[in-house]
Amino acid sequence: MAESKIYCKKCKGEVRLPVLAPSVRDAIAASWASDGLEAVKAMVHATGWDLREAKGTVLHLTKRRGVCHRCAAPLADRVGICPECASVNVDWLPDAS
Ligand SMILES: [Zn+2]
Ligand SMILES: [Zn+2]
Repeated sequence: MAESKIYCKKCKGEVRLPVLAPSVRDAIAASWASDGLEAVKAMVHATGWDLREAKGTVLHLTKRRGVCHRCAAPLADRVGICPECASVNVDWLPDAS
């Protein structure tokens, strides 16, 4: 599966970024905001990764669009490093409509 990686200074590890269908991505992002375990299970299902790997990526998903999952600073990019806390953020949530 095509994927990229981004290094997280906070965790001192690589965060794997799978290439997923938009509908799958949306579903994982949405479940993460409400139920963390469901999101990890959905990631395992979508990628074939083991639970630990899936969790490593899911833990970096935002729970609010454009807001760092760790320190709540505003984010400039969909996938990038928080300017405040240096944590990787993966913002898969849809734009507020
Ligand atoms: Zn991290
Ligand atoms: Zn932050």
